[in-house]
Amino acid sequence: MLVIMSTDSTEKQIQRAKDRISEMGYSSHTVSWHDHYAIGVTGNKGKEDRIYLEGLPGVLKVVTLSKPYKLASREVQPENSVYRIGSATFGDGNVVMIAGPCAVESEEQTLRITEQVAQRGAQMLRGGAYKPRTSPYAFQGLGEPGLEILATASEKNGLPVVSEVVDPGTAGLVAQYTDMLQIGTRNMQNFILLKEVGRTGKPVLLKRGMSATLEETLMSAEYLMSNGAREVVICERGVRTFASHARNTLDISIIPALKKISHLPIIVDPSHSSGHRYSVIPHSLAGIGAGADGLIVDVHDRPDEALCDGPQALSPEQFSELMDVSGKVCAALGKTIGTEAT
Ligand code: PEP
Ligand code: MN
Repeated sequence: MLVIMSTDSTEKQIQRAKDRISEMGYSSHTVSWHDHYAIGVTGNKGKEDRIYLEGLPGVLKVVTLSKPYKLASREVQPENSVYRIGSATFGDGNVVMIAGPCAVESEEQTLRITEQVAQRGAQMLRGGAYKPRTSPYAFQGLGEPGLEILATASEKNGLPVVSEVVDPGTAGLVAQYTDMLQIGTRNMQNFILLKEVGRTGKPVLLKRGMSATLEETLMSAEYLMSNGAREVVICERGVRTFASHARNTLDISIIPALKKISHLPIIVDPSHSSGHRYSVIPHSLAGIGAGADGLIVDVHDRPDEALCDGPQALSPEQFSELMDVSGKVCAALGKTIGTEAT
């Protein structure tokens, strides 16, 4: 349900509506509906509950939501969500460029790469301290020391940082060191993890599961939002198909489809979709062309020595080229990379 307050409702009336919602055993979520203050109600089971809210002073109307995802839906919030995370703004119509190594391997490696991507125009740093690897024998990440390195690199270069959380026990720890928590494709439906990450209240980058539908992806966003996350960005990183010419199949069709029904920003990960350096730029441009709000790109200056995903990492020079051509595509669309200083 969505309780829409009249434009002249008072704080007291809003509080009264929230108290009634909690007396009924439900949760309230503050949202905006056009120019109205509105309260998203979750946990309700049937239509009949409306009558306890409809007659309250200050309540304009109560709307029953038709979709199983509520807080992520345009029914609850018709306008696009816009989030500012340090120097990066998601959802304002421009393109955020997130770049960095797949994994934090050492302080020296991370500082080197961060400096290079920052100089070339990235607005945000990526890097994994906890790596979900297919093989138990592969490099699993540096753990907390890796988070410390990321925090140092972020601070030195003025870039906010996003890093993956792989288990509920370390959600709070990753939140202490970073600006945004990443849920990887393999964990998109790890509901215990989603709840814990939501409870940190940090912005979240939610990667689409490699075989998840749009609706399943939004239900996972709903787990995060109903547990306290207010800023959720979806990431399309390719899905599993019969095609073997790329690591995954980049499904750009999800971008307009998601934007039609959800107010959440969506970005593209062209590195994990392509798996090969040569196709990272084409995947990036396709994503921007389809309306993505940003890109998250693997960059490594010594890809042959990379402990994770070297073949898909762009060199810093190739990252410059990506910035260049992306800027041109953005200009043709009336957008910029990053928000222009006003
Ligand atoms: C990553 O971004 O490092 C990663 C592991 O991505 P994904 O979950 O999309 O495979
Ligand atoms: Mn990777």
